[in-house]
Amino acid sequence: MTDTPIPSATTLEFLGREHGHFIDGRWRPSASGATFDVHDPATGRRIARCAAGGAAEIDEAVRAARAALTGPWSRFTAAQRSAVLWKIADLVQQDLQRLCELEVVDSGLPMPIAQYVCGMVVPEFFRYYAGWPTKIEGATIPAAPQGKLPGEAISFTLREPVGVVGAITPWNSPLPMVMLKVAPALAAGCTLVLKPAELAPLTAMRLVEICQEAGVPDGVVNLVNGHGEDAGAALAAHPGVDKIAFTGSTEVGRMIVRAAAGNLKKVTLELGGKSPVVVFPDADLAQVIPGAARACFFLQGQNCMAGTRLFVHEKVHDRVVEGVAAIARALKIGPGLDPGSEFGPLISAAQRERVAGFVAAGRAEGAEVVCGGRAPERPGYFFEPTVLARTRSDMTPVREEIFGPVLCVQAFGDDDLEQVAREANSTIYGLSGSVWTRDLGTAMRMVRLIDAGQVSVNMHAAIDPAMPFGGNKQSGWGREFGKEGLEPYLKTKGISMTW
Ligand code: NAD
Repeated sequence: MTDTPIPSATTLEFLGREHGHFIDGRWRPSASGATFDVHDPATGRRIARCAAGGAAEIDEAVRAARAALTGPWSRFTAAQRSAVLWKIADLVQQDLQRLCELEVVDSGLPMPIAQYVCGMVVPEFFRYYAGWPTKIEGATIPAAPQGKLPGEAISFTLREPVGVVGAITPWNSPLPMVMLKVAPALAAGCTLVLKPAELAPLTAMRLVEICQEAGVPDGVVNLVNGHGEDAGAALAAHPGVDKIAFTGSTEVGRMIVRAAAGNLKKVTLELGGKSPVVVFPDADLAQVIPGAARACFFLQGQNCMAGTRLFVHEKVHDRVVEGVAAIARALKIGPGLDPGSEFGPLISAAQRERVAGFVAAGRAEGAEVVCGGRAPERPGYFFEPTVLARTRSDMTPVREEIFGPVLCVQAFGDDDLEQVAREANSTIYGLSGSVWTRDLGTAMRMVRLIDAGQVSVNMHAAIDPAMPFGGNKQSGWGREFGKEGLEPYLKTKGISMTW
């Protein structure tokens, strides 16, 4: 099946299954018999085969989710929903080796990153949301409905689950992307139909089994495999879905909004980014250089928060560029399962071609390739971490979300913070950003001037389950993480009562 050494028998067993759709508590094939292959991006080899679902499977899954809304799940107490979420976290940790191996061969992550993500980020997130069901509260309102005096009536609000959630997720960090939808949806008491990315669906499939093992009743968490234009589009348009939670590209986000308009579903969107990293001359370069390298090259740059536009004050420009390039050159490229690999492949041959195209466009438009810029001669979809210097905001690789390991550097000499922020904001995106300085005044002014849903100071993309995260401008609608991440899964009912 694959040349990549896969150490655990449970992983091999999982890969060898005939993967179907998980509907109403059991796996089943597609009605049409259609399938698609899943590849290891480090080798290009097929590692699994999945049923390719479409409108028929989506319809079945939505019906199951709709029925489950009023089934045993609706009678779970808040404390019981908490216990289920906590149990999911425990089971993720118990199944850590298999989940990590699946994530590595499916999406190309280096193993240490998979261990951090699956062993820490995912369980902590489920445990954070395990705390919420018992704290979802309405309010009593000092209203006077129809002229009733105090004591003659009472008005209050109930918070209820929004209903059936259609969750559509990308391939770049597959398990966390699914966790971001499943945890708040279950905390709120919703039911779900999940459509994971066809390029990396494996850990999503394992997670729905874990949900079931943790005591989630049949039909509460359903999964339909398939392509975006088939299964994804059918889910976004289905009249039985109350809310779509989408993470993916801005282009597909627009399609989701159009498809969701039919029954006016609630929609949250976590979309693309082109995040600025702004380095002032007083910053601690010992922090800046590894921080800027990590900001761009984490997940091979296939990261919505990636800090891909580096603005450096001219006084420290050369030192920062040389330092980041030195780190990029030293990163050990290799398959995620190889011990010592620090930098994995891109997700697909198409993605590698796309990245190479942006580097070529940058070269043609006058950018200087300081390091990288090539696909190494080896199997798999690898591309070297790349630094482009002397870039301008109007160049193609600076304007477009590349979703690959390409850092575009621009020098600034200006001490006018508003001008620096204007450059940092000269993008259609507004997801993340960072400011590097020892001056608190500069930091606080820049924090306010940068138009992004998240700004970090002397670090980049500081993520925590409790911190709201999401995009401004064309990076999205709404927030995930934290209390704000729970809100889109709830609706409010206003009640007035007299006697
Ligand atoms: P994508 O938009 O191509 O696909 C995302 C999901 O949408 C997949 O499951 C896909 O099958 C599905 N899809 C595709 N066409 C569809 C359609 N017409 N209708 C319904 N569903 C459809 O994105 P991708 O290439 O998988 O992921 C990369 C993108 O995701 C990047 O733009 C990245 O910035 C973004 N992303 C954003 C965040 C965030 O939190 N803001 C996080 C991760 C990734």
